[in-house]
Amino acid sequence: MMTISPINAFSDNYIWLIERGQQAFVVDPGEPDPVLTRLAERGLELAGILITHHHFDHTGAVQVLQEKTGCDTWGPASSPAGIFDHTVTEGDRASVLGESFEVLEVPGHTLDHIAYFCSAQSALFCGDTLFVGGCGRVFEGTTAQMRASLEKLSALPTDTRIYCAHEYTLGNLAFAQMVEPDNVALSTFVAACQDKRARDVPTVPSVLEGELSYNPFLRWSSAAIRQTLIDAGRLRDDSPDGVFSAVREWKNQA
Ligand code: ZN
Ligand code: FE
Repeated sequence: MMTISPINAFSDNYIWLIERGQQAFVVDPGEPDPVLTRLAERGLELAGILITHHHFDHTGAVQVLQEKTGCDTWGPASSPAGIFDHTVTEGDRASVLGESFEVLEVPGHTLDHIAYFCSAQSALFCGDTLFVGGCGRVFEGTTAQMRASLEKLSALPTDTRIYCAHEYTLGNLAFAQMVEPDNVALSTFVAACQDKRARDVPTVPSVLEGELSYNPFLRWSSAAIRQTLIDAGRLRDDSPDGVFSAVREWKNQA
């Protein structure tokens, strides 16, 4: 059986640990020590590393882990992070402990950003593209690129679990409630997440079906969000890209 669990890193990063038997993969290891500690505690051998994008909080441990374990690495083909053993692009597949992980290109946060989707486990590892209740900042791409990437992820099966790389949920949801105050699915989810955080339990993974109901960065078709933007004098372009850009810009300033 394959299991997926978080390893905490820095102040709010999750490095995802994928285990089957005594073998493991990690996704986006920014720091080596928490990974090495967990591997030792559980008696696991590191077989591979999956990277979603070049930022240091996702790649900082790659070299050390590779040297210490000799594991293989997978990462985006056009990445400033350097050379991986396996460079992957849209539609490529990585074999992860006997399961097939499909690569989706999701530029926007960075231009090299990719996500890994495992249909057998209904699991998506999406780095800093889609967050629980939010999305990554658009650093390198355009907001239109980012929205297209999120639209691609929205089309995955609705039971897909969203393994993103940061615990940003409560801040994201506070913003979501500002742009869509009457969303009942959102207020129900906020209460559940506040309860988890009070007990120091991760809010990640969430489920795509839920994200579609409360995440304002997937809700460019919401009449309520459009109305909030209009009332705030923030909707300059009434199109999906215009709504998404206005929401992203507002969040950047909030
Ligand atoms: Zn990032
Ligand atoms: Fe990050």
